[in-house]
Amino acid sequence: MRRPSCVHPHSLLESLPQEAQHHGVYLRPLLQALLQVLPASQGPKRRLRGLGRFTVAFRAAYYQLARRVLAEKRQVIPCYAGWASAHIAPNGDVWTCCVRADPVGNLRQTAYDLRPIWFEQVGRLRELRRSIRAQECACPMANASYANMLLHPPTLLRVARDVLRR
Ligand code: SF4
Repeated sequence: MRRPSCVHPHSLLESLPQEAQHHGVYLRPLLQALLQVLPASQGPKRRLRGLGRFTVAFRAAYYQLARRVLAEKRQVIPCYAGWASAHIAPNGDVWTCCVRADPVGNLRQTAYDLRPIWFEQVGRLRELRRSIRAQECACPMANASYANMLLHPPTLLRVARDVLRR
């Protein structure tokens, strides 16, 4: 008989619906409740090796970050959506992230070439980048957060220390 699988809070965070598409802080009560029960930063008790230690430490750091974003309602570390990552919608719209889901251009208008949009020759990417840099939004979305953490030396240092302790 198959054992029932459990849904890890992390996967729930990644699958948040794209319903909050306005400027400001994107919070949902369910997510807040979920973060109350997220595991503390320690991760599993058993000893891990190699990449597993890094993955667990990185995930623990993400949970801490997500809690702080929700509590402080701000970008706790800079968000690089629109620089380090972007999303392409099925209709060709290019978004800086799927939380804002604000089209900065459409690939159909550039013969499916991302470069004119990415290098701000057409579209609104400059405007969105400015807005994100000015911290006009904040959210704990996992995929943007992971990219942001990789680009944030203090976070990487904390993760490295945690890996050494595990
Ligand atoms: S903080 Fe980053 S990922 Fe979150 S809404 Fe703003 S741009 Fe999108």
